[in-house]
Amino acid sequence: MLEEQLRAAGYEIVPFGQPAELGIIHTCVVTREAETKSRKYIHRFLRQNPGAVTAVIGCYAQTAAEAIAAMGGVDLVLGNDAKMLLSDYLDLPRQDAPVVLRPRPERKTFTIRFEPDGPPLRQRVNLKIQDGCDTMCSYCYIPFARGRSRSRDFGDIVNEATALVHRGAKEIVLTGVNLGDFEQDGRRLADLVDALSALAPQPRVRISSIELTNLPETLFERMADPAHALVPHLHVPLQSGSDTVLQAMRRPYTAADYLALLGRAAAAVPGIGIGADVMVGFPGETDADFEATCALVRESPLFYLHVFQYSERPEVASVRLEDKVPVETAGFRSEVLIQIGEEKKRAFLEHQIGKTLRVLFEDCEGEHWRGHADNYLEVAVESREDLRNRFGRVRINALQGRLLFGTIETME
Ligand code: SF4
Repeated sequence: MLEEQLRAAGYEIVPFGQPAELGIIHTCVVTREAETKSRKYIHRFLRQNPGAVTAVIGCYAQTAAEAIAAMGGVDLVLGNDAKMLLSDYLDLPRQDAPVVLRPRPERKTFTIRFEPDGPPLRQRVNLKIQDGCDTMCSYCYIPFARGRSRSRDFGDIVNEATALVHRGAKEIVLTGVNLGDFEQDGRRLADLVDALSALAPQPRVRISSIELTNLPETLFERMADPAHALVPHLHVPLQSGSDTVLQAMRRPYTAADYLALLGRAAAAVPGIGIGADVMVGFPGETDADFEATCALVRESPLFYLHVFQYSERPEVASVRLEDKVPVETAGFRSEVLIQIGEEKKRAFLEHQIGKTLRVLFEDCEGEHWRGHADNYLEVAVESREDLRNRFGRVRINALQGRLLFGTIETME
């Protein structure tokens, strides 16, 4: 969205590392490593482009404006609720100290400025519908950076989705910090996906990630309905398969709740693809706790995992917990779990051979077109035609490495 605002204002976008008159460093603080990387990118841009206007935006700008100002050379520091106003501040005369704008996020419905008449779109697009989180998991810094949970105005979302579809977007990915919290004037996530499903032309609609505790199971019937835009794909963070660790993390569910929900999803939605985030090395995690996580993953219908090692932030509650797990142990557990994730993925992929999947083609390498199926599997076909941003029904014939290969039965 920012990119589009800047193009509309006459800027040309160049990749990071090329000389530029304006630098925008969009920062993250979700882990200590992400924060370190954010600082590194700011320093690198300042060093390589000493005369440029430099804007630091996002979560690090929200939480560490003083540290950014102390670096010297940064012109704009815009927190999360101010970053979309960037273009309003670009023509201001430059000053010794940066302009800092990081209003505390208010707990109220918000709108987002978007360009309704941008250039044609030929790729999947993100659509933000919610921000912030009230859950306060003991390890998580996000509520500090993003504030309390709030939803985007329903009409504003539908208007932007309509514009995106008219510009050619075939797939819309709904994003937010805690999507299941979405609520505006009594309308919730299921109402929103219904409204997006009614757009013409109908896009494919995907939910980026959703917490088990506020996942409306009424979504399952929509995912199972081929006429509905919502695809059969879920990403449900697990974090741990041990109830002791989940409790210490302040995650409001048990391992049994998680398995039961995934079981209901798999039973209700044929072919559904389900993935999860899992954390290893949380303080106090014993070998037995870790084994419980491995066992849950093996038993579940999960087909892919994003494995994270616990990363300590000074501000969060888990910092006070004892029995820190040595980095080597966390690293070992991470490798074991990644391996289990690979095995789960392979089994799920093999199960697809002989099936027909609906694929939206994205990229081409040589004569191989790749895209994602509705259930988020990556699929390749051979074709000399330009398939970019087109749907095809693909018969899956083979698995090579982690990629499914097939032949096109029909194109839409
Ligand atoms: S639900 Fe997610 S965003 Fe919210 S506090 Fe927990 S981990 Fe952080």
